[in-house]
Amino acid sequence: MTFEYAPAPESRSIVDIADSYGLFIDGAFVDTIDGAQFKTVNPATEEVLSSITEAGAEDVDRAVRAARRAYEDVWGPMSGRERSKYIYRIARLIQERSRELAVLETLDNGKPIRESRDVDLPLVAAHFFYYAGWADKLEHAGFGPSPRPLGVAAQVIPWNFPLLMLAWKVAPALAGGNTVVLKPAETTPLTALAFADICRQADLPPGVVNILTGAGATGRALVEHPDVDKVAFTGSTEVGRQIMKGVAGTTKRLTLELGGKAANIVFDDAPIDQAIEGIVNGIFFNQGHVCCAGSRLLLQESIADEAIASLQRRLGTLRLGDPMDKNTDVGAINSAAQLERIAELADSGDAEGAMRWTAPCQLPDRGYWFPPTVFTGVTQAHRIAREEIFGPVLSVLTFRTPDEAVEKANNTPYGLSAGIWTEKGSRILWMAARMRAGVVWANTFNRFDPTSPFGGYKESGFGREGGIQGLGPYLNTDTMDYDNAIRIGFGVSEVAR
Ligand code: NDP
Repeated sequence: MTFEYAPAPESRSIVDIADSYGLFIDGAFVDTIDGAQFKTVNPATEEVLSSITEAGAEDVDRAVRAARRAYEDVWGPMSGRERSKYIYRIARLIQERSRELAVLETLDNGKPIRESRDVDLPLVAAHFFYYAGWADKLEHAGFGPSPRPLGVAAQVIPWNFPLLMLAWKVAPALAGGNTVVLKPAETTPLTALAFADICRQADLPPGVVNILTGAGATGRALVEHPDVDKVAFTGSTEVGRQIMKGVAGTTKRLTLELGGKAANIVFDDAPIDQAIEGIVNGIFFNQGHVCCAGSRLLLQESIADEAIASLQRRLGTLRLGDPMDKNTDVGAINSAAQLERIAELADSGDAEGAMRWTAPCQLPDRGYWFPPTVFTGVTQAHRIAREEIFGPVLSVLTFRTPDEAVEKANNTPYGLSAGIWTEKGSRILWMAARMRAGVVWANTFNRFDPTSPFGGYKESGFGREGGIQGLGPYLNTDTMDYDNAIRIGFGVSEVAR
């Protein structure tokens, strides 16, 4: 049964979006030297929100030089205790301005306000609080007696969790004593620009954080800049490959967090109502724009029909529409280009013989929308079972035995996450030990915590973000306490590097 709700829109009066923005370099917003302008739009309405600067190569050089100066003169020599005060201040300002930041994120990204307000922003603040706590305790973190920063970090992030990905990258970098030049995605620059203002408000020394808006070319110029010591990237496997080639043969350190095609595996003894909620959260949260989304549902054959019927019933109650409405469950697709990609992959599902089911919902006339969609009759060979769709599209496969579930779950070039639903603890442990995935959730999905490491195997990338492990990629670990590092969760290959 679906209840009717009156509209409950969040007010946008709390945000003050400027007509245009410059680049944030050396503690100030400045005009570009050799760049251009582009527009950022609200994907739910196609309304132009602001004019944004696309940084050119000379802007990149200026930002990297500012970050280098700040590293050598101020941030690198500063004690961890002093650094932590700044990071705590940033965390508190994020909390104070969280409503404004949530509204801004929803306007620029298209995600429901319920998610930006209740998931993204609390996690963003938690990340800064968590790493602020490490800044003055680095010598006790298992990286040897006096771990040193790497220098200037070039960070490139995607559009699916704009401010959260910024937090995952900036917080550990600053805690470790590095300075940062960060490029947000072309379609979602606004919260990174608001974060620049927060850095100013926190009196962060100029040059410690620099924000360069722009497109792919800006990102490439940044990661290829010769005076960068560390590159951190989250995005598609394809661009990750290009960056890896660009960094090869240099002394730059690299971490890559790339795509995924996670299996969400439901056994016949699973608590079915709970599992249905987990499946919905696994693939329809954030419109499926989630690298660790449970985009392949593996159902044990004996419960497949019942589970699919329950899932369809539940999807019929999801509300799709205005992301600013507090009742909305499914928001807009982030861009026209992403909508086209999702539609093309879904069409390939039809062409290859899978059965498409679409949740009954009315799509708004303007903006970029795709209804929650479930494909059944999917085989391992179908593109929708192999390629990252990055949208609200679920591919359902079945299995009979635990061995078959393991085989199918791992039969992917990716390895970011997996979900296991069963009432047996022993089966959870047996399955988790066999999953080639960086994160395995049991009887839940898409749970995040700043203390918990996140990252991939195989084509999902390498290196970890979050937790104590997330500090390592921002520290010079020449003097790493190897035994301790392995004990706290570094792989032997990571330690040996
Ligand atoms: P990209 O990998 O192209 O974008 C990620 C970030 O990298 C953006 O800031 C982008 O800038 C930047 N970038 C693009 N090209 C380069 C380059 N050569 N060097 C350095 N930086 C670069 O992802 P898309 O946004 O194009 O999405 C394409 C597909 O990738 C999606 O359909 C999805 O399947 C996958 N994806 C996966 C993500 C994940 O977390 N696993 C996140 C985002 C996308 P700009 O935004 O201006 O292009």
